[in-house]
Amino acid sequence: MRFLATGLCVLMLGAAALTAEPVSLTFVAASGYVIGRGDFKVAIDGLTTLETPAATQAMMEAAQPRALMSAASAPFDIDLILVTHSDSDHFDASVISSNMTANLQAVLIGPANVVRAVLAQAPTLDPARLIVVHPGLYSPQTVEAAGLSIDVFSFPLPGPENVGYRFRVGDLAFADPGDLNFDTIAMDFARTGWTETPPDVLILPYFLFNAEYRTVIPTCPARLYVPTHAQLGSLALACETARGVTDRVLCFSRSLEEQAIPPLSD
Ligand SMILES: [Zn+2]
Repeated sequence: MRFLATGLCVLMLGAAALTAEPVSLTFVAASGYVIGRGDFKVAIDGLTTLETPAATQAMMEAAQPRALMSAASAPFDIDLILVTHSDSDHFDASVISSNMTANLQAVLIGPANVVRAVLAQAPTLDPARLIVVHPGLYSPQTVEAAGLSIDVFSFPLPGPENVGYRFRVGDLAFADPGDLNFDTIAMDFARTGWTETPPDVLILPYFLFNAEYRTVIPTCPARLYVPTHAQLGSLALACETARGVTDRVLCFSRSLEEQAIPPLSD
């Protein structure tokens, strides 16, 4: 009985420790982040190294993330690779195919052209590891992968198919719309329900002026905003812009910088 009680106690402590395990974010480059909780990692547009301004490029060359990505070395020993769309600041088929070849646990989710491009580079990848998504404007999809339930939304652009993702890691709901169409930002956020039920952490692109932040932040009161799409300006500028609208911003200053998500208030 005593043994059982001790065992239960250890189990409960273990569960508590698991719940309390912190969630971290690592900025990669351009529009990419890796979300981590212990050994579990989700990359969102996080396997690309292209199209960066000189300052970011220099940081990246110093950090050499491309070699780490291809070899699936930390922080790119990833369980789930989410791609919003095929633009080169979000996606690199050859890097992803190398990563998935070196890292047999990684599952890829993306629009059809993304998955096709990766498969063209690595035709022997197990199809079970490649998930094509194509949500309708008013019909989001839910996909189960890597132990997560991921909601996928359409955020149409003039360019290639662009999807947004919403999912939980630990206690936190993350959302990332990919790129945004200036003309339909408010409508798109309302249509996806993100304004009604905002995520805890919203990864929000920055496009040289702060229309996205001014439009989105008052209507989608997330508990924390993470600027992304830094390649068009600089990460510092994106951060400064976001901080002009809200103080709930998590800013990064270099490639492969990792930060724990701070305790969030309402
Ligand atoms: Zn982009």
